[in-house]
Amino acid sequence: MNLKSLTQPELAQILKQRNQPAFRAKQIFTWLHKGVRGYDEMTNLPKGLREELAKDYPICPPEVIRRQESQRDGTVKYLWKLSDGNCVETVLMRYHYGNTVCISTEVGCRMGCAFCASTLGGLVRRLEPFEMLDQVLFTQVDSGLPISHIVLMGIGEPLDNFDNVMRFLELVNSPEGMNISMRHISLSTCGLVPKIDELARRKLQLTLSVSLHAPNDAVRDRIMPVNKAYPIEELLAACRRYYQATNRRISFEYAMIRDANDSQADAKELLRRLKGLPAHFNLIPLNHVEESPLKPSTRAAVAAFQKTLEDGGVTATVRRTLGGDIDASCGQLRRKYQKEGN
Ligand code: SAH
Repeated sequence: MNLKSLTQPELAQILKQRNQPAFRAKQIFTWLHKGVRGYDEMTNLPKGLREELAKDYPICPPEVIRRQESQRDGTVKYLWKLSDGNCVETVLMRYHYGNTVCISTEVGCRMGCAFCASTLGGLVRRLEPFEMLDQVLFTQVDSGLPISHIVLMGIGEPLDNFDNVMRFLELVNSPEGMNISMRHISLSTCGLVPKIDELARRKLQLTLSVSLHAPNDAVRDRIMPVNKAYPIEELLAACRRYYQATNRRISFEYAMIRDANDSQADAKELLRRLKGLPAHFNLIPLNHVEESPLKPSTRAAVAAFQKTLEDGGVTATVRRTLGGDIDASCGQLRRKYQKEGN
């Protein structure tokens, strides 16, 4: 068990069993959420307690094994080694509104999307809450930049690791910890309908991003196996319920794949299907993955698609691709490291 996965009241319980005064929970919680690497850094704790905790609850910070910084835009990509030897990646992006980290939620992924590097080796295991928190904390410590925004868009499907992700959100949101507002957090899903409903019931103020990538079942079935379990109409119905429950506009991600999902007919079909659902589209020219035959759309096709959506009343932005020179997308760095024989 790792103390950093616990809420402050849970931590207080553990300390109470050790006959520690109540204020210790807050002290320790604050230190842990600063990203300390050992209990000896907790200078306001008695030495005996520090030693006891170090023995019973080692901190196990992740180790940086690759750090790539884009020369173009300052994006930094970290490959971390976790305490069991598995690797995950985190990307730090510097936007005008604040420093944003894109974190992984699982080691690998079992969703099988045809264009994604993260899923090529399947799911190895889910991340614990502290392992998601550590990505934020140690990116902040390493870069020296204050992190204000988080996107759950790295390796893994967050809603396939639901309880741990919910706990991570509670931790990173806590005022005595990183205090990152839910409104500064986006959670991206490939479309696990029952979990979207469960998330809606929590009424969090985060932004739900849905990886749609297709206007209909014929196209979506081909690139996203999850669509066979939860076809597009069911997914969009869940999005409507989500909007009703939270009043939060859904953000749709749409990776533009040449001759697969980028025609004018596709854009018009999307408009018909989305009628009445407040939505925003992020158009992302596909990042080429070595193992995949799929190619990015041309710039002209992306612009035409965007225009059709906007003319139909749906806002659409073309996502600026950051870190194009450093494999900064979706499991590519971990994949490369594995292929080098690690
Ligand atoms: N599993 C979640 C979150 C992780 S993926 C989800 O599916 O949403 C984050 C986003 O990157 C998703 O929209 C995913 O579809 C997209 N993505 C994956 N591989 C990509 C690629 N090669 N090019 C562009 N976008 C990609």
